[in-house]
Amino acid sequence: MIKIDRPSTAPTKLTKDGAEATEELKRLFEADPDGYKSGKKKFVFNKKIYGHETVKAALKAAQFDKCCFCERKTEVGHVEHFRGKGGYQQDETETLQYPGYYWLAYYWTNLLFSCETCNSSFKRNFFPLKNPKHRATSHHDDISIEKPLIINPSTEDPEKFIEFYSHYPKAIKGNKRGLETIKRTGLGRPFIDDRRREHYLRVKAFYLLSNEPSLPANKRDELRQLITEASNKESEYASMIRCALKHGFRY
Ligand SMILES: [Zn+2]
Repeated sequence: MIKIDRPSTAPTKLTKDGAEATEELKRLFEADPDGYKSGKKKFVFNKKIYGHETVKAALKAAQFDKCCFCERKTEVGHVEHFRGKGGYQQDETETLQYPGYYWLAYYWTNLLFSCETCNSSFKRNFFPLKNPKHRATSHHDDISIEKPLIINPSTEDPEKFIEFYSHYPKAIKGNKRGLETIKRTGLGRPFIDDRRREHYLRVKAFYLLSNEPSLPANKRDELRQLITEASNKESEYASMIRCALKHGFRY
């Protein structure tokens, strides 16, 4: 994971249709708060708004086609809600709680671009907080007092929480938010691990060769250029490569 710079201006689809749809959701909640809190009534969300091509394209461009969690480039991908719109779970011991953060379903700063697996198979409705008592459960509550355990790559720097040992993700000094983020987004799952390993070994080979005195200087420069590119924010698994460069590909 790396820090994501989402453009400050939201796509018009969200500021117009999204804003209207949000007001409607708030009206529905006001009419029957207990119905929505008990889960007897459920909100219906319009994917044509939050998942609109202009919204997805803006997020994809800001993230260089990479998943906000695993940094895999993906052509398809999902518009992911950082705070889940339909419901939430603190952890596995809690059943799905209703309603979710319905008032943020079309809210620009709650949206990220992610791969299907991180979104649908791992993070799902999990949204653990440091103190669950601070959870905002309706649009009347203040989300700013929440302290989410999952790192939000659009507001904070994930590289302060997660590092890599070789290609394995690790929470820096075992910090709880790093651990929780790795677990909830499946950052260490075998498929991604294998892909990261291949990439790690390839860039490591470049790194070792770039320090090989028997190679002509211009060839070593070419290799250094490739290594720099691999650590740029546009590249897959950039956070892993940056970490490897810090320790000189020692592992
Ligand atoms: Zn992913």
